[in-house]
Amino acid sequence: TIGMIAIDQHGHVAAGTSTNGMTHKVPGRVGDSPIPGSGAYADSTVGAAAATGDGDIMMRFLPSYLAVELMRNGADPSSACKTAISRIKKHHKEFFGAIICANTTGHYGAACNKFSKISKFHFMVSNSESNTPLMKSVDCI
Ligand code: ASP
Repeated sequence: TIGMIAIDQHGHVAAGTSTNGMTHKVPGRVGDSPIPGSGAYADSTVGAAAATGDGDIMMRFLPSYLAVELMRNGADPSSACKTAISRIKKHHKEFFGAIICANTTGHYGAACNKFSKISKFHFMVSNSESNTPLMKSVDCI
């Protein structure tokens, strides 16, 4: 899945996903990516989040909605992302999943579940501070 968050100069926030779903998925499977609150969620008064990973597990927890609501209540993007992953991890120790979060002040973060050989998550950031997109990474929790 490609998950994206965009904030324009007027503070409008949008989030979106593009995915090919899961390998060997059953015909007709929808997955988490197009489900608002699961694959992505945006609120221009707060910020946005977008998720990737095992959608059949993740969609039960609406991680993007949860992260945005946590930011609404004052959490910084990084801890909102971590809490969204931790919430799933409480029930499913071993799942593949990551989430990106950004708020309307331009702060951002990401989190991923440490699982199997996955210990880092890479994401790209493009903003007015640099004239080229920068690759960032976080250590999975
Ligand atoms: N979340 C997607 C799905 O389960 C897969 C992915 O993120 O790569 O359909």
